[in-house]
Amino acid sequence: MENRNEKILIVEDDSQIRNFISYSLKQAGFPYLTTGTAQGALSTLVSEQIDLMLLDLGLPDFDGMEVIKKVREWSEMPIIVVSARDQDKEKAAALDSGADDYLTKPFSATELLARIRVAIRHLHRAGGIKQQTSLAVGGLRIDFDKHLVYLDDAELHTTPMEYNLLVLFFRNIGKVLTTKYIVKEIYGAGYGTDTQALRTLMASLRRKIEKNPAKPRYILTEIGVGYRLADE
Ligand code: CA
Repeated sequence: MENRNEKILIVEDDSQIRNFISYSLKQAGFPYLTTGTAQGALSTLVSEQIDLMLLDLGLPDFDGMEVIKKVREWSEMPIIVVSARDQDKEKAAALDSGADDYLTKPFSATELLARIRVAIRHLHRAGGIKQQTSLAVGGLRIDFDKHLVYLDDAELHTTPMEYNLLVLFFRNIGKVLTTKYIVKEIYGAGYGTDTQALRTLMASLRRKIEKNPAKPRYILTEIGVGYRLADE
């Protein structure tokens, strides 16, 4: 068992799921605290040093979505939504409210821990990312100084829009980005909810970076929600 320093808060009113998550975190060596209510979550966050929160949306006192909004007023801590709701709209809304990722119940301990590790890596990376001149995921590498993209060490020709899109993904490795968020970042707030241009841009980028664009290895589709750059 490795010892981790990051303390995790589990917010879940279903005791079976709470016990399952607690057990998984314990096995992985993470210190953790638990609460079954939204109010409990907020008071724990105020009184304890918490590094990451696993948050159920359907809580008995008020909605988990409200917890996300409140926490985001003062903290950038990773929030992974753990929810039985599998509606894509709910996931996208949680992400747009400031959640970092989501897990749909039922999920395995392996899946849970993988998401936690990605979120923690992202947390540690966030401070230093601006200083990074080059980042890679597998054979896909971006050089921010030279504005160049490489695939398996061969230089790729990308359009400025494709390059901007890749920069956005590399700044958020492993994190799911909603379509709404990407459109806003790439085309600006005035672009509204028109996602057709993004789909076209994504298709042309994938033809360049993916061996099989129908089965992408780098930029993965999160159906009905958005996209995620694979984290290895
Ligand atoms: Ca619940």
